[in-house]
This record gives sequence, structure tokens and C-alpha cells, in this order.
Amino acid sequence: MTGYRSDVPENWFVDPVNLGVPGVRRPDHDEDTALAWQTDALCSQTDPEAFFPEKGGSTRDAKRICSSCDVRGECLEYALNNDERFGIWGGLSERERRKLKRQAAG
Ligand code: SF4
Repeated sequence: MTGYRSDVPENWFVDPVNLGVPGVRRPDHDEDTALAWQTDALCSQTDPEAFFPEKGGSTRDAKRICSSCDVRGECLEYALNNDERFGIWGGLSERERRKLKRQAAG
């Protein structure tokens, strides 16, 4: 273990080296394609704690990184499809993603 806070999900980032290794994440998922975008994830080169701030903590740093990330769209789509509840994905916070979903639902 690397000493991250316990509220950082262990599966939040899959090491690109492990992509394609069967069973490393959700065995019933087609993770090869579902997570392929993570090889270009800018946040993989940064501190993951910025993406899982304490309640009320700043999301500014994470969002700034997301804004220059090449796979922002894929990341957000993945988070929405998989109902990721915690953290910043695709530049949006939990609350912003919920809002987006509500809007999409009409
Ligand atoms: S959009 Fe943000 S959270 Fe998603 S992969 Fe890029 S840097 Fe990471």
C-alpha cells in the first residue's frame, strides 16, 4: 500500500502496465476497452489525493489538471457510465456529475 487516505478508492486508477491483465479490476467488465483511456490520463502523473479532496476541500488543482487532459471526455463518460460517486473525473466533481445526469435525464 502506498499510504493514500482510505477514501481514495483502490481502483481509482489502474496502472497502464496492468491494463489487459485479466481480473485486476472488475472481472465481469470489459476493462481492456473500458479503461484504455487511462494510459493517457494526466492525473496518473500527479497526486491522486488532489482528485479525492476532503469534504469541502478544494477541487481547483484537480480541475486544472483535467482541463489539459487529452482523455477528459472518455474519463467523464466512464465515470458517468460506472456511476463513480467519489472524486473528480473528467474535470467534474461528484455534485457536478450528479447535476449533469439530472439534466441528461431531462
Ligand atoms: S480528465 Fe482529469 S480525472 Fe480524468 S483522466 Fe484526465 S486528469 Fe484524470
